[in-house]
Amino acid sequence: MNTVRKGPEFTVARAEGVWLWDEAGDRYLDGTASLWYCNVGHGRPEIAEAVHRQMLTLDAYTVYGDFSNAPAARLSERLAAHAPVDDPRVILTCGGGESIDTAAKLARRFHAVTGAPERVHLISRTGGYHGLHGFGTSVIGMERFRTGYGPLVEDVSVVPHDSAAALEAEILRVGPGRVAAFFAEPVIGAGGVYAPPPDYFTEVARICERYGVLFIVDSVICAFARLGDWFGIERFGVRPDMIVFAKGVSSGYLPLGGVVVSGRVADPFWYREGHPFLHGTTYAGHPTACAAAMANLDILEREDLFTVSLEVERQLDGALRSLADHPLVAQVRSGTGVMAAVELTEEALAGRGITTAEVFAEARARGVILRPVPTALLISPPLTITWEQIDHLVSTLAGALDAVAARH
Ligand code: PLP
Repeated sequence: MNTVRKGPEFTVARAEGVWLWDEAGDRYLDGTASLWYCNVGHGRPEIAEAVHRQMLTLDAYTVYGDFSNAPAARLSERLAAHAPVDDPRVILTCGGGESIDTAAKLARRFHAVTGAPERVHLISRTGGYHGLHGFGTSVIGMERFRTGYGPLVEDVSVVPHDSAAALEAEILRVGPGRVAAFFAEPVIGAGGVYAPPPDYFTEVARICERYGVLFIVDSVICAFARLGDWFGIERFGVRPDMIVFAKGVSSGYLPLGGVVVSGRVADPFWYREGHPFLHGTTYAGHPTACAAAMANLDILEREDLFTVSLEVERQLDGALRSLADHPLVAQVRSGTGVMAAVELTEEALAGRGITTAEVFAEARARGVILRPVPTALLISPPLTITWEQIDHLVSTLAGALDAVAARH
């Protein structure tokens, strides 16, 4: 038991490619790339060797004040070279939630030092997940993550995730001179895998620009080839003010995240000549994590997982269509990135008392790990998954649904 939560634990002991083994030696297909992040698959020796070499060269040195470290500097340059952000600068952190807090603080501070200190309001979307740090918990688009934590960050609101008009209406309601930033995932992940409607992000970018609102893309899940490109937003054709990343940057081999910031937003803080942005944490840009990320990005490029991912997206989408007619299934959401949700019907959930946890447990007993959220099973395998493995994942889920249906 390593949490404060009471309940069964599933302890993973070993992993390779898309496969996991528990302590009893039983094998499972990792249908979720752990928590959306193991894009290159498990057990890559190149990443382990890069981390080992890095430890022997420079074990640790914090990025702060006048200091950087060589792997952090190289990684930042490499990320900036690919980011769809104007004149990009990179702030490194230890993960997604920390990066969201960095972006939110930077947004408010940017307005404060550029003559608009009253611009503090933050807008996010229903179903949006932005981590569980202070700002992230406050802007999260799922009430259950906020409940019971007492007063959180003030001046936040949530708009429907599928309507750019709703964003504009909210900006006008709050007062255009009071809104600091808008947060959006390219495809909503933990909230249930919702891709944006056509032209949504073009409209959003136009609205943010019109009202002076910073447009912050949370690509913690979508970047590093899960949507077939570097930062998960390129296919929607917009250039945000900031992009938050984590997970796939190192495929989770070591904790790492960050924010790509446009020059326009970064410049007022530029070293020594500008205003201070007093923000940073001890392990941000840790050399070993950056070495893991560099080796991970080498794999993404060498194996062209950017292109492979688009084929996997098509294959997964095609295979999951077979579940659309299943009596327990209300909707299959897939086809934008290597991520999908199989939503159960109201009749199955409320009517027959079936839970997604039960379907998850049945699939796990049959050797496939999925992720249950209140009304859906989420799927986000490593991008290296083969067609046979996709077929195995989907047919195992179908079998699990049949078995659960037969019990109720
Ligand atoms: N943003 C998104 C879109 C996420 O999916 C997550 C984590 O799942 C986070 C932020 C938070 O990242 P972390 O768990 O590394 O703090």
